[in-house]
Formats: sequence, structure tokens, C-alpha cells
Amino acid sequence: MRYTKPLEDLIEEFRKFPTIGPKSAQRMAFTLLKKTPEQVEKFARIICEAKEHIKYCSKCFNLTNSVICEICQDPRRDSKQVCIVESVKDLIALERTHEYRGIYHVLGGIISPLEGISADDLNLTQLTTRLQIQLDEMNPEDELELVLAISLSTEGEATMLYIKRLMSQFGDSRIKLTRLAHGLPVGADLDYADETTLARAFEARVVA
Ligand SMILES: [Zn+2]
Repeated sequence: MRYTKPLEDLIEEFRKFPTIGPKSAQRMAFTLLKKTPEQVEKFARIICEAKEHIKYCSKCFNLTNSVICEICQDPRRDSKQVCIVESVKDLIALERTHEYRGIYHVLGGIISPLEGISADDLNLTQLTTRLQIQLDEMNPEDELELVLAISLSTEGEATMLYIKRLMSQFGDSRIKLTRLAHGLPVGADLDYADETTLARAFEARVVA
């Protein structure tokens, strides 16, 4: 015995979310069915509005509802320190530590041959373009620190190595690459680390 088709479809859509198994998907679908038509309409509207208004910052790929995100627009942030993160989730995790006053670049993933993600799928061309623009405006004696705040997994290490090579090809001695100090859970996403651990790993960052 199967559920009626619209309900099967609804369960199937919920199952497409990460970590949602069949049981959770069923529970979510039934919760939605118990709501009034007005509540469901409101929910659908919120989803559509989020999709319509939330965009990627054209500079750093953080999520924003304008062209440039709040962090990139903030004149108090130090633009000579660019923290490279895998995802917006990791950016938020670093922001929560209140330690970092620089700006970001969100890669939108990490190199993972198993999942078919190559360097071309990451926001790396956009990184080199924005760095070039920034370096052109900088003095010869200034330094531009790129902090590789990427998880310490095999894929994370491969991604950091790729960026390191990319930057050496770039050949501008003003670029200084650093990475988070050890002490973070190996293999886990940055946002799994508690704020103190993450803040410490950031503070004690080392030359990459
Ligand atoms: Zn931004």
C-alpha cells in the first residue's frame, strides 16, 4: 500500500534534503498536511521569496540580498586580510568567534574527485580576478594575507594545495598564505568546532 501520489511526491521532495531519511521525510510531509491552507501558503511564499531575494555577493560569494554583502561593504573590515572558506556556513562559524575583522572569499565547495567536484567548479577564477584588482591598488610594501580556513580533510588539504600552487603561479610576493593551526577536528566541517577552538585555531594560524 502506497500513499496517494501527491503525498508520495511531497515525501520525495523532502528526501532530497541532506541528512533527511525516509522516516523524517514522512514526518515533515505529515506535519505540513496538518497545517491550514493559509499556513502552507505562507510557507510556500517564504521559500519563493528567499529564493528570489537571496543572491551571492558579487565579490566574495557570501549570501546577501543586495549586490555586495554587508561584510564587503563594511569600511571597518580589513580588506588586506582575505579568509578563504568552503561555504557560507563556515563564514558564519568564523563570524561567530568575533575574532576576525578581515573579509572573505567563499569557494562554494572543495575539490572532491569522488563527488565529481573539480577546481573549475569552485569560485577560483573570481578569486584571482579580485586579488589582481586589489593588488593593483596596493602599495609595493603592503601585504595581502590569504587565510586558508578550510577543513582538515583529504579534500580540504587538496584544495589548500591547489590554491597554494595557484598563488605561486600568481607570483606576487605581497601575497602571504596562512592556514588555521591544528587543533580542529580532522575531517569535520569548520562549523562543527566550538567557537573557542575555532578562535584559537585562527589566532594561532601558521604559514601555509
Ligand atoms: Zn561579500
